[in-house]
Amino acid sequence: MTKILSKEKWRKRRRRKRYAVLTMCISLIMIFFAFTAVIGFELIRGRLNQNIPETETFSETLPGGTAIQLEYLTPNPYSRPQTSLKHVKSIVVHYTANPETSAKNNRNYFDNLAKTHLTYASSHFVIGLEGEIIQCLPLTEQSYASNDRNDDTISIECCHPDTTGKFNESTYDALVNLTAGLCMEFNLKKEDIIRHYDVSHKKCPLYFVEHEDEWEIFKEDVMKVVNSRNSTG
Ligand SMILES: [Zn+2]
Repeated sequence: MTKILSKEKWRKRRRRKRYAVLTMCISLIMIFFAFTAVIGFELIRGRLNQNIPETETFSETLPGGTAIQLEYLTPNPYSRPQTSLKHVKSIVVHYTANPETSAKNNRNYFDNLAKTHLTYASSHFVIGLEGEIIQCLPLTEQSYASNDRNDDTISIECCHPDTTGKFNESTYDALVNLTAGLCMEFNLKKEDIIRHYDVSHKKCPLYFVEHEDEWEIFKEDVMKVVNSRNSTG
C-alpha cells in the first residue's frame, strides 16, 4: 500500500532534500578550496626552498667521483663567525694568490686567523693542486670571501702553480665538477657562476679576469656537466 503523504510532509521532505544537496555542494567547494590552498602553498614553499641551504655539506657524489674532505674551521670571529647563510644566489670563484700552496695550507691559514687575527677571511671550499677539495665551512654558514655578497653566495678558492694564476688540469676539473654539483644543489644557472672580480673588481681569479674567453669556456664546461647529469637523471 502506498503511503500518501500530506502536502506539509512533502514540503518538509523537499526542504530536507534541498538542504542535503546544498550542504554537499558547500562541502565540495570547501574541499576544493582547501586542496587548492595546500597545493599552492606547497608550490610556493618549494620555490622558496630551492636556494636555502638545508644541509651542512653537499651530499651528492660529485661528477667524476671527486670526494669532498670535511675539515671545518674552528668557530672564531676572524674566519668562522657562524653567521647563517639564508639563501644561495651565486657561486663565487677565487684564486689564492699564493702560488704552489696546497688546499690544506690555505685551510689552515684560515683556521689560524683565530689566533693571528691578521684579517677576516675564509672560503667554503678550497681546491688543491691535486684536485683535492676541502670544505672549510658548512653550507649553512657565511664565509668571509666575497665582500658584500657573503650573505648569498658560496665561495670556492682555487690553488694555482704560478703567478699567472692559471689553474692546472686537476684543479680545473675539480672546480668544474664542484661548481656543477653546487649549481644542481641550489638550482643555479650559468649566469649565477661569478668571479670575485664581478663583485668587487678585485683581480681575482687573476687568470679568468685577464682571459675573459677562458672564463666563458669554464662556465660552458660547468653547464655541460650539469646538462649531462640532468639528462641521465
Ligand atoms: Zn677572491
